[in-house]
Amino acid sequence: MEHRRIAIIGGGWAGIAAAVELTAAGQSVTLFEAGRQLGGRARGITLAGRRLDNGQHILLGAYREILALMRQLGADPEKLLQRLPLAVEDNAGFRLQLPKIPAPFNLAWGLLTASGVSLREKIATALWMNGLKSRKFQLAADVTVAQWLDAAGQTGALRQHLWAPLCLAALNTPIDNASAQLFANTLRDSLGSPHRKDTDLLLPRVDLGQVLPEPAAQWLTAKGAELRLSHRVKEIGVEIGDRPQFYEPQNCGLSPISVDGEHFDVIILATAPQHAAALLQIDKNFGFEFEPIGTVYLAYPAGTALPVPMLGQQGGIGQWAIDRGDGMIACILSGHGEWESKSDDTLAQILTAELDLPTKPLWHGVVREKRATFACRPNLTRPGAQTVHPQLWLAGDYTWADYPGTLEGAVKSGLRAAHNTLKHDLLQ
Ligand SMILES: Cc1cc2nc3c(=O)[nH]c(=O)nc-3n(C[C@H](O)[C@H](O)[C@H](O)COP(=O)(O)OP(=O)(O)OC[C@H]3O[C@@H](n4cnc5c(N)ncnc54)[C@H](O)[C@@H]3O)c2cc1C
Repeated sequence: MEHRRIAIIGGGWAGIAAAVELTAAGQSVTLFEAGRQLGGRARGITLAGRRLDNGQHILLGAYREILALMRQLGADPEKLLQRLPLAVEDNAGFRLQLPKIPAPFNLAWGLLTASGVSLREKIATALWMNGLKSRKFQLAADVTVAQWLDAAGQTGALRQHLWAPLCLAALNTPIDNASAQLFANTLRDSLGSPHRKDTDLLLPRVDLGQVLPEPAAQWLTAKGAELRLSHRVKEIGVEIGDRPQFYEPQNCGLSPISVDGEHFDVIILATAPQHAAALLQIDKNFGFEFEPIGTVYLAYPAGTALPVPMLGQQGGIGQWAIDRGDGMIACILSGHGEWESKSDDTLAQILTAELDLPTKPLWHGVVREKRATFACRPNLTRPGAQTVHPQLWLAGDYTWADYPGTLEGAVKSGLRAAHNTLKHDLLQ
């Protein structure tokens, strides 16, 4: 194996996964990260002295690559993540809970015992899910989730209390705009998985920094990788003669390639699409639009708890409330909506009223991520790992075309870019 100097631009979960994989393979890795810490859109932050996240995240048992990466870094998923059988319960009385029995019986039982749904709808839904499974969740054509549910006759209680909130949570895009194929893919790997544990919810017990980015930073430093934090890369250069050229389709041959003027053998560009597009001088962010996510943290007196760890909210602004323990509740506001125009104090007031817990919060804090994920529209054209330049690879959630913008997609994309780098013989 040739020894290469590899630059990874972007220290989110995609860049971290690539850096760990390449460092483990004995390559010389330099990781450039614009922020002061690793983690990108999934990082720990401190708000008024409290260790929180830049936004509440929910992981799934199906996130195998993340779990494997955590173990590799010495971060024990069993300790750091709370594993719960999937339960969707909301403040309007809907309840669907999967028991700890093997798949697919867990889903069948969950549907059969769901509250607030007619027997007729349960049977129709079980048959529909069966049909989807037999077609491996592959749709004939991509349409919006709303159109897909309409065509399947999914117009009752399950649409309102299960599919629409799950779609918004998983794709960060409302059913009227979201891609049915990407939603079907997430159902395939969660509710539709033949492995019961894939359907579990994994809720971080600690802030996100401790789940992956901090163990990764320690591991990488110990193994000799170079972390350049607070370094925003301004220029990727493909040097031809003494004149740096930027990424252009005609520059296909092997040539020295540089990051802010420094020579590397390979570059993995692992930023969000808008930042990659800017560095590559591609117009219009590869064609992506974006959806925001707001997280409203409400700190109640210790001992205050939600009735369930993850509570769906219907009929107001709130969508999901997560019990983080010690009285800290995180309310998630996914996708564009009227919440965006409200002040932090107003949001806290509204969500406190919607939660209607016996006590009042002692503190609130709001984090707004304006470009939390790309909008998961039907028939998106997504770039893959490969570029026209053999020494330049892309990683990032947007490049893992099978998934919406997720942590697992980001990690898988980072691993793929690393594997491609190792496979590709630069001396050919
Ligand atoms: C609030 C919120 C909630 C979410 N909830 C969930 C959830 O529940 N489940 C789930 O699976 N996913 C969730 N996601 C999505 C998930 O966080 C992302 O898909 C994932 O973190 C993307 O990782 P990434 O490495 O592809 O990109 P990023 O995290 O964006 O990493 C890119 C990194 O590149 C750096 N960078 C950019 N430009 C430069 C430059 N020029 N030079 C150097 N560095 C640069 C950035 O600072 C950043 O650290 C959520 C996202 C948000 C924001």
